[in-house]
Amino acid sequence: MAAEAATQEQSKAAEEKQTNCLACNKPIKKIRRYYRNGKFYCTKRCWMKFIETEKNKGKEEEKK
Ligand SMILES: [Zn+2]
Repeated sequence: MAAEAATQEQSKAAEEKQTNCLACNKPIKKIRRYYRNGKFYCTKRCWMKFIETEKNKGKEEEKK
């Protein structure tokens, strides 16, 4: 039980620091990180992918 709580806290802390790429959700290493608009991605490609995903989300909302 205690171990479970510790794991949850760790994942929460990781989210707050944003150490994972928003596109592929891989942990970002300092060297490879790509910073855009206040968020971190592991590569430029992942940043583009994330933007495309956000665009598609918006389009789907408009269709409704
Ligand atoms: Zn990525």
